[in-house]
Amino acid sequence: MPELPDITVYLEALEKRILGQSLTRVQINGLSLLRTAQPPISSVEGKKVLQLRRIGKRIAIGLEDDLWLVLHLMIAGRLHWHEGGSKASKSRTLASFTFPNGTLSLTEAGSRKRASLHLVQGEAALRALDPGGLDVLRANLESFTAVLQSENHTLKRALTDPQLFSGIGNAYSDEILFAAELSPTALTKKLTETEIERLFNAIRAQLVQWTERLRDDAGKKFPEKVTAFRPEMAVHGRYKQPCPRCGGKIQRIRYAANETNYCPHCQTGGKLLADRSLSRLLRQDWPKNVEDLENLTATHRKKST
Ligand SMILES: [Zn+2]
Repeated sequence: MPELPDITVYLEALEKRILGQSLTRVQINGLSLLRTAQPPISSVEGKKVLQLRRIGKRIAIGLEDDLWLVLHLMIAGRLHWHEGGSKASKSRTLASFTFPNGTLSLTEAGSRKRASLHLVQGEAALRALDPGGLDVLRANLESFTAVLQSENHTLKRALTDPQLFSGIGNAYSDEILFAAELSPTALTKKLTETEIERLFNAIRAQLVQWTERLRDDAGKKFPEKVTAFRPEMAVHGRYKQPCPRCGGKIQRIRYAANETNYCPHCQTGGKLLADRSLSRLLRQDWPKNVEDLENLTATHRKKST
């Protein structure tokens, strides 16, 4: 799932191409893609793009009349840019947005369509789509600690909860926890001050480094190689491969339809904890469906008990 570094690089590429341009035509092919009926999707046609914004893991395109197209790519949604009059390939294309200088299209691999598009009007409606997580790059240690310890969760769950932290998902949370030398199943309320500070610094360093790396990779081109699995990653997607720090084997914990990768030597004090008991721990700390967490917005924020 595209996370903060991927979304940032998408936004930068979009700014260079569609900012100030008029959206001449919108075509929606995916039946389940558009989640709003009002205002009608045709109302964006002829409107100029005035700004672009990241809302958690969503991409928001702001047009004249305070209209906002808000895209959530979920796991397999990807954006593409076709220069000038060249057409987007039809199969897999869920939506296309035509501008005088090119076409932006959205595709989604796989049969399960989870990507979403909302069209809303006004700042309040836009804010209602924001799950409300803290942007760690703009936060200080104090506010970070308060959010981290507002509920007692496993670290893996806390980091990827969009209501707690903005833009962090399965891939970068693995990398962050490895950099911070912390276990994915450590409980947030049991962390020491030193551990919290290490985590705070690791989040910031990882998000900044990865954004720079992805920006360099894309260069002047539109980012077409967006993936959660990169060869430079230390642990994510590297089950059974050697840890870049200690050489030990990277392990995994499976829960729901997800898995987390970690190095036992570097992150869990050398303990190779049984996958089964750890999975249970993570499973209990998760909604039934991992997607449910991702689809939460401010409008269905859970009541704290
Ligand atoms: Zn290691």
